[in-house]
Amino acid sequence: MMSMEERYLKLEETIRSYNPGANFAQIRAAYEFAAAAHEGQKRKDGSPFVSHPLAVAQIVAEELHLDSESIMAALLHDTIEDTTATHEEVAGMFSPTVADLVEGVSKLTRVQFTSKAQEQMENLRKMLMAMSKDIRVILVKISDRLHNMRTMEYQTPAKQKQKSFETMEIYAPIAHRLGMQRMKWELEDLSLKYLDPVGYEEIIHGLEAKSIEYEAFMQHIDEQIMERVQAAGIKDAVVYGRLKHPYSIYRKMYAQQKTLNEVFDLIAFRVIVDSVADCYNVLGIVHDLYKPILGRFKDYIGTPKPNMYQSLHTTVMGQSGIPFEVQIRTREMHEIAEYGIAAHWKYKQNGRGAGDESNYEWVRRLLENQEGADAEDFIHSLKVDMFADEVFVFTPMGDVINLPAGATPIDYAYTIHSAVGNHMVGAKVNGRIVQYDYQLRNGDVVEVLTSQSARGPSRDWIKIAKSSEARSKIRQWFKRERRDENIAAGRASFESELKRSGVTIKELTADENLPAMLKKLSYNNLDDMYAAIGYGGVTALKVVGRLREDILRIIARRQAENAPAAETAKPVQPAPKPVQPIRSKAVQGIIVEGMSNCLVKFAKCCTPVPGDEVVGFTTRGYGVSVHRTDCPNAAPERRTKETEGRWLKVSWAEDLQEGYSTVLQVTAKDRMGLIVDVSTILSSTKTRVSNLHARSTPDGFALIEIGLEVTDHKQLQTVIHRLQQISGVMRVTRPAG
Ligand code: MN
Repeated sequence: MMSMEERYLKLEETIRSYNPGANFAQIRAAYEFAAAAHEGQKRKDGSPFVSHPLAVAQIVAEELHLDSESIMAALLHDTIEDTTATHEEVAGMFSPTVADLVEGVSKLTRVQFTSKAQEQMENLRKMLMAMSKDIRVILVKISDRLHNMRTMEYQTPAKQKQKSFETMEIYAPIAHRLGMQRMKWELEDLSLKYLDPVGYEEIIHGLEAKSIEYEAFMQHIDEQIMERVQAAGIKDAVVYGRLKHPYSIYRKMYAQQKTLNEVFDLIAFRVIVDSVADCYNVLGIVHDLYKPILGRFKDYIGTPKPNMYQSLHTTVMGQSGIPFEVQIRTREMHEIAEYGIAAHWKYKQNGRGAGDESNYEWVRRLLENQEGADAEDFIHSLKVDMFADEVFVFTPMGDVINLPAGATPIDYAYTIHSAVGNHMVGAKVNGRIVQYDYQLRNGDVVEVLTSQSARGPSRDWIKIAKSSEARSKIRQWFKRERRDENIAAGRASFESELKRSGVTIKELTADENLPAMLKKLSYNNLDDMYAAIGYGGVTALKVVGRLREDILRIIARRQAENAPAAETAKPVQPAPKPVQPIRSKAVQGIIVEGMSNCLVKFAKCCTPVPGDEVVGFTTRGYGVSVHRTDCPNAAPERRTKETEGRWLKVSWAEDLQEGYSTVLQVTAKDRMGLIVDVSTILSSTKTRVSNLHARSTPDGFALIEIGLEVTDHKQLQTVIHRLQQISGVMRVTRPAG
């Protein structure tokens, strides 16, 4: 066993190999500070606790070649969390940046992962990235996790499983996104060991046997390639073969339902050269030496992967019938493939020296040069300091909720459900009661206290809420839930406003005035008008103003009636206009011409949504059935003399229901993952799906029927359009008839 001092000296040596100008005095001080702070603490294996931060610093140096501040942060990463040391102390002794890095790592450590729902994982990964304001925080955290995984054997089985799950679902994908393949593989392999010990052992033993079996073969291929490469005058090439790493084999076995012996390519060779031109030369040599397998060539040099990965991949068949993969890349591409963003870090440091790393221009530029939607997603997920417009918080169940920056418990409550917001009587953040205007922070655990007897939202909430979604839900509540109160309040203020004009409500709303007046104001009835005034949609003053003419006419008529008889010889006031029919009242968002409050239902054969052209049919006893005009059942040529009179003009009202059910049919070439892609589109377009049936036809097609709920034609078109873009989808139709 190496002593702690020996381990520390080894760390210095590692740092010196890539960064001779590192601040060794400060690094030593950080080590000693950590050793003193953790004095007396032991790890599960009995070693002094400081061996852990030392090992993490070793990973940060060896695997990532990071700067002095990162090394210090790695050494100190558990001091603020687990000892009496404070942020101020660390900032004073080292630097505010180092203290911030340590604090950042501690914050990530505090995040509790409880949700196991797949759809939560992406949010959790984003949350961690958003919390790592400095990219070095996540790099140190991943190194910390790697060391914990390497020493996981000392933990209880329950903890092993939990940490391995987190590592597999959260940390390995982040490492992958940051392009750090080596760490990603190790994290995956170590997780697999605890998540499926039997499967893991099987592969390890299988691979041991294979490595003996393949040793001579690999040696031979290695020499063959090297010989031809040198003969072609390509200098400084490195060739080496290896068996693929256990988790990648495990995934293939699982996905393809194969045994280890049936997995197609277990062996990969790497050829590393100086220039891109040499990469293509080597590819030519390899394809000349061995038979390429069709469809297995990939040019990631021409089209890099979103995580910056560049390489040529090809799979070929050796003389003995053993297939193997060859990856060809330049030294720089290799370093980026192995160390990812950290490699760029290093180049940046060597180029311009440390100083402005906190400015991520270089990351941004690098990523923005990449093309394709995938790259865009990646940029979004990497926008460490570009996440400024979002905040991620936890529900008490451990689900992550994504809110706009500055969001309050009110926004949170209405995001969960309108009913939660409307019954909210208080909120807790991290177990403590907070004010409604508390600004939520990344990683907060938020709990809404509700009561059935809650009085409902207050009008102030509209000002406090940050999201327009919450605000509109609160307004809706005032509009709907308190209709009676609104009507009473509206009537009172209308009455008092009207008083000044010298006309009474009774006069104004007399039968001969009312219909014309409501028509002018576009209300269906008086209650609607009062309610609108009551919830503040319009002021009483404005309504009275718009009724000026009517008021004057009433006053004029009253004066005429009261005037002496002689006056009656004068031509009488123009008779009130003939009563106009009241605009038909909308039912479920449908106005049936000439009818109010009739039963309306939407035809099952064509499931119309707002925006579709529609026509109504009077059924016997079931009200009016609404069809799309392009529905075969509503086609004019199908109408008979007897039914002709039952077809009615209908139109969409302005006041619509929240959602309308309809159906889509998707015809596609059947393939793996089709349904996943379809459901991804449905969830990314926030479409409410009521059912989804898929079946494959014997000739290789998939027919998918989706029952969904949309607000209107426009939203439906968006969903159709997005579905059409899925690879293999041939047709998306709305069934009718
Ligand atoms: Mn740690």
